Amino acid sequence: MKISEMNWGQVEAYLKHDDRAVLPLGSTEQHAGLSLSVDSILSEQVALEAAAPLGIPVFPVVAYGVTPYFLAYPGSVSLRVETYVRLVRDILDSLKRQGFRRILMVNGHGGNQLAGSLAIEWMADNPGSAVKFHNWWNAPRTFAKVQETDPVASHASWMENFAWTRLPGVVQPSQQKPMIDAARMRVMDPDKVRAYLGDGNFGGYYERPDSEMQAIWDIAVAETRELMEGPWA
Ligand SMILES: [Zn+2]
Repeated sequence: MKISEMNWGQVEAYLKHDDRAVLPLGSTEQHAGLSLSVDSILSEQVALEAAAPLGIPVFPVVAYGVTPYFLAYPGSVSLRVETYVRLVRDILDSLKRQGFRRILMVNGHGGNQLAGSLAIEWMADNPGSAVKFHNWWNAPRTFAKVQETDPVASHASWMENFAWTRLPGVVQPSQQKPMIDAARMRVMDPDKVRAYLGDGNFGGYYERPDSEMQAIWDIAVAETRELMEGPWA
């Protein structure tokens, strides 16, 4: 259930019999030839499909994340660590005030990991509330399926190329890009990162058959749904 398709009265009625909510976390950043919104599209979509049969409300994706290394790529936007933590904390505080007690954050971007650290701190400050932080793409079964499909998989490679993240009219390269050296990239400033990465793919093919992508997606949806179901304590 999308929050944008509910009114407050319906949320109030929901809270009389359930206290779970889902908050997708995304980013607006370069993904080579794919949409700048890949991380937002995927985290929101996997959350919506996982939550649908359970009737749990899914809040709008937090469309900006922490991604300073991509700032030389036009269209990429990065929040400061401090801003991001305050933003996510304000959302959690708002949800708690209204009666939500079990919140699943479905994250689509590695740079947002600090929301997971915040969740642990926030739970200590708010006994009786539970927050789970879920990186949907590297959860155990989803990541195993990715590895089984093609072990050379990375940011902006085939593993993020779904029918709902590719752009019409953009032809993907057919070669397999060699994996970049992540340790080297981590110490580069944004201009050097862009010069080093070129198109932005970290390594691997740019696309794989839709049937293989759907098989990965189905596992990701099921794995995300299980976290919504429990255990919560
Ligand atoms: Zn991504």
